[in-house]
Amino acid sequence: MKQIPYWLDTAPRRPDRSGKPLPESADVVVIGGGLTGLSTAYHAARKGASVVLVEKDQIGAGASGRNGSMCTQGITIPPGEARKRYGQERALELYNAFRDAVDLVEDLTLREQIDCDFTRAGRLGLACKPKHFEHLQAKQRELAENFGHETVVLSKSDLRAEIGSDYYHGALLDPLSAGLHVGKFVGGLADAAERAGAEIHERNAATGLTRLPGGGFVVETMHGTIRAKQVMAATDAYSDKSMPWFRKRLINVGSFIIVTEPLGEARAKELIPNGRLLVAHKNVGHYVRLTPDNRLAFGGRARFAPSNPASDLKSGDILKREMTEIFPQLAGARIDYVWGGMVGFSWDRIPHAGEIDGLYYSMGYCGHGVQMATYMGRAVAEMMDGKPEANPLRGLGFPKVPVPFYNGTAWFLPFGGAYYKAKDRWS
Ligand SMILES: Cc1cc2nc3c(=O)[nH]c(=O)nc-3n(C[C@H](O)[C@H](O)[C@H](O)COP(=O)(O)OP(=O)(O)OC[C@H]3O[C@@H](n4cnc5c(N)ncnc54)[C@H](O)[C@@H]3O)c2cc1C
Repeated sequence: MKQIPYWLDTAPRRPDRSGKPLPESADVVVIGGGLTGLSTAYHAARKGASVVLVEKDQIGAGASGRNGSMCTQGITIPPGEARKRYGQERALELYNAFRDAVDLVEDLTLREQIDCDFTRAGRLGLACKPKHFEHLQAKQRELAENFGHETVVLSKSDLRAEIGSDYYHGALLDPLSAGLHVGKFVGGLADAAERAGAEIHERNAATGLTRLPGGGFVVETMHGTIRAKQVMAATDAYSDKSMPWFRKRLINVGSFIIVTEPLGEARAKELIPNGRLLVAHKNVGHYVRLTPDNRLAFGGRARFAPSNPASDLKSGDILKREMTEIFPQLAGARIDYVWGGMVGFSWDRIPHAGEIDGLYYSMGYCGHGVQMATYMGRAVAEMMDGKPEANPLRGLGFPKVPVPFYNGTAWFLPFGGAYYKAKDRWS
């Protein structure tokens, strides 16, 4: 069994972008080589800026190469809650940004010819209890009436045509959500950023940032310093101690995935005949999809623990039990991959992007980063180009996690996890 992300293992081998000398200066320095950073680098370079991206590991080594590869519609909080919190007009603007983000991913794959299996397979939000089906029916009405978004309610009996399991009690189908091969997308976006003129430096961490009196920054890195007119922090859940401001505002939660052996087309079609993306409608849920080579990928929070090799294995065991409860026909299937990664959650469960004293940032996508990181990367390139209105998240603040002395180490997560699991049992 491999303990690396399936998506990185099965993507074409990429050039080694480490060991190059840094230029003395650039218009824009981007810190972090996930989808946010790559998208900012790509879009800023296309606008004519000189761009240098530094990534402490390899492109996609953070959450961007480790996720469920689901590029789904919909905001990070329930749509009704978004209306209450932000008012109808602002909630609609936010909702539309999440929808446009999926379109942007598709446009990039076409414009830059990124061969990454992007398919509008549709997402099924699944009721794990009869009562949850009522929530999904209410959500369908809310989306149609207040957000102009058409989804389809599927009853338990309708689900027989969608899933080879009797586990669920109905679903809400969003036909426009997409699946892709995120390893190929990340690699393709890096190539496109380089073609647009951006320089990518792997295995080179930013270690410090000094603001210059007349404007601009000196960025210290493991392999030299570089002056920059503008700097973008694109480090999300992987923000290290050189980014204390962000660490005080994000709760980083481990999420884990197992991938079976190739099952063959016929067996895969028995499990998910229409290739939908499955997401359990729960606080502590699971997400399931087929891979392009007919394996089943099964992910979830499993344990409220950080990701590391030992933790990933423990979580993998839990996920395998859950997977076979839902799909008993997979009891004998070999597990070929297990891995984990960290998901950045903001306290108010909405992503945040903006500028603090000349330092730009976008992060806290709360599990919706495949599309939103790509979208917000572009928005930040626009903001750097003097268009603050391009930021759909403007004015939302970025609240600190209200736990005394919190500095990014979420010691309280197991308690929060127990609370949400209990909530799932009761509600
Ligand atoms: C297991 C899992 C499943 C998920 N499933 C989905 C899904 O199906 N759909 C979805 O939309 N979202 C999903 N997400 C969330 C999504 O992957 C993230 O929101 C998104 O990838 C964040 O992208 P990013 O570029 O902002 O951050 P990242 O991809 O995490 O990139 C940050 C990068 O910054 C680098 N870095 C950190 N510090 C420094 C430094 N000092 N100098 C240089 N580089 C630095 C890190 O090495 C890292 O590569 C999932 C996440 C996980 C972990």
